[in-house]
Amino acid sequence: MTTTEKNDFIREIIDEDLKINKFQGRVHTRFPPEPNGYLHIGHAKSIRLNFGISQDYNGKFNLRFDDTNPEKEEQEYVDSIIEDVKWLGGDFEDRLFYASDYFEQMYQWAVDLIKKGKAFVCDLNGDEIRATRGTLTEPGKESPFRNRSIEENLDLFERMRKGEFPNGTKTLRAKIDMASPNINLRDPIMYRVVHEGHHRQRDTWCIYPTYDWAHGLEDSIENITHSICTLEFENHRPLYDWFLENLGVYHPQQIEFARLNITYTVLSKRRLLQLVQEKHVFGWDDPRMPTLAGFRRRGYTADSIKVFCDKIGVSKKDSMIDVAMLEWSIREDLNKNTQRAMAVLNPMKVVLTNYPEGKVEELSAVNNPEDESAGSRMVPFSRELYIDQEDFREVPPQKYYRLSPGTEVRLRYAYIIKCEKVIKDAKGNITELHCTYDPATKSGTATANRKVKSTIHWVSAHAAVNAEVRLYDRLFVKEDPNEVEEGKDFLSNINPNSLQVLTHCKLEPMLNIAAPGDRFQFERTGYFCADVKDSKPGAPVFNRIVTLKDTWAKIEQKEKK
Ligand code: ATP
Ligand code: MG
Repeated sequence: MTTTEKNDFIREIIDEDLKINKFQGRVHTRFPPEPNGYLHIGHAKSIRLNFGISQDYNGKFNLRFDDTNPEKEEQEYVDSIIEDVKWLGGDFEDRLFYASDYFEQMYQWAVDLIKKGKAFVCDLNGDEIRATRGTLTEPGKESPFRNRSIEENLDLFERMRKGEFPNGTKTLRAKIDMASPNINLRDPIMYRVVHEGHHRQRDTWCIYPTYDWAHGLEDSIENITHSICTLEFENHRPLYDWFLENLGVYHPQQIEFARLNITYTVLSKRRLLQLVQEKHVFGWDDPRMPTLAGFRRRGYTADSIKVFCDKIGVSKKDSMIDVAMLEWSIREDLNKNTQRAMAVLNPMKVVLTNYPEGKVEELSAVNNPEDESAGSRMVPFSRELYIDQEDFREVPPQKYYRLSPGTEVRLRYAYIIKCEKVIKDAKGNITELHCTYDPATKSGTATANRKVKSTIHWVSAHAAVNAEVRLYDRLFVKEDPNEVEEGKDFLSNINPNSLQVLTHCKLEPMLNIAAPGDRFQFERTGYFCADVKDSKPGAPVFNRIVTLKDTWAKIEQKEKK
């Protein structure tokens, strides 16, 4: 019985089915990707929905590769999809299936339909079939080959399979109704001749089933109860039903929901492939890609993606989700769970002229203000430090409360310092700041209660770790990247500043041993993840997962107390 607190129209349908004991009370869903690309966040929505339903109803969930098109499919995609589904917690147990394993059964069912007089071999080519299909307002024209005898059809179909005919010269079509108001029912194609090796079947087949013919059969073979797909298949459902009814085999229920669209993001596999092939990004797992591999490399947690998918829910109406919601999900998760650290991305040297040379103090820093159990760590403090260039202005604008000549700031976990002198090179560029510190203001001591308007982060120069930091921004500048001016394509909406690489960053010492994949909040800066491919202990490389929002204000308030 249902144990779900979630309530959506799909679960309502399932509840009704359970009441009338349709499918003998079983619930069995599947996720059926075509291995022609990496999975993206839209697929995550589908995985969470299908897997979530199987969990909620004590049912089963299959992963099935819909590998019916040899021209675009590759083993690399199969491997990445398995990894991604597992990463998202989609547990298919031992139920990993391939549609191509059902090709023989599908072929036999096609023969059955021919024998029933419900399918025929057609000699029209693709263009001719399209031209005779009719329109929404006009019926189509029957193929001149529609009334071939059953014997002739059986013979030709067998010879199609044997490889006697070149690509595109023959198809097997269902014999339904060329006047149907639903164009999908106008004698749709079931098989095409495609002389192409298949990534699993090799050269066994030279005829391949279409999606419409194959998909329901796959669901039927696997005893799926609810075949959940995206809205564009709504008009295909009558055909899904027609095939199963006319074969007289087990008949799952197809249900459609609206696909996920996100602002500033493209989610078409064809376009994502183009971004990769034309090298607009560095690969399918480029941290700017909306692929699960990209999100993972950037540092997104599987949990945050699950939370996002559950939060957006499912509906019957197409809509556009604000990418800020996805960013909110990851911030929520990381705010609770990541260790804080200090990192200076654009360093500016500070010399504390009244701090003893050679002296090093170890100061206590809180690891996570959201999680007391995370404890604290020691950070070294000395005469020479780095602060961020952004935290100093020689000529401060109004309401700029950070460091400028003659003003004071607090160094987080340390002391209040005052800028006494700006040192410049011959060209007039600032090379360092000479400051003094106030020994009476050490954080955590009784005398530290003197207040200044601003607290900034810093790293001690003598112990600083050199690092590369990659700042990622949205890959597209337009809310809807598919909206383009005439004569241009979506590539014209690419954000030229989507990646900024900083190579002179200075990090606090503990970050030196960050393991690839480790995540941190760099205080006041954002959430960062040690890159799984390029980061090594001793030579860290960090990806920015997401910027911070207003958390600093909170920290600052606490520090002032
Ligand atoms: P194409 O069929 O054009 O290659 P696709 O994105 O539909 O691309 P599939 O591999 O067929 O790719 O998708 C697998 C499953 O994921 C399907 O059930 C599909 O409906 C679902 N899916 C794909 N894109 C989205 C999306 N943006 N939102 C929700 N579900 C999606
Ligand atoms: Mg598809």
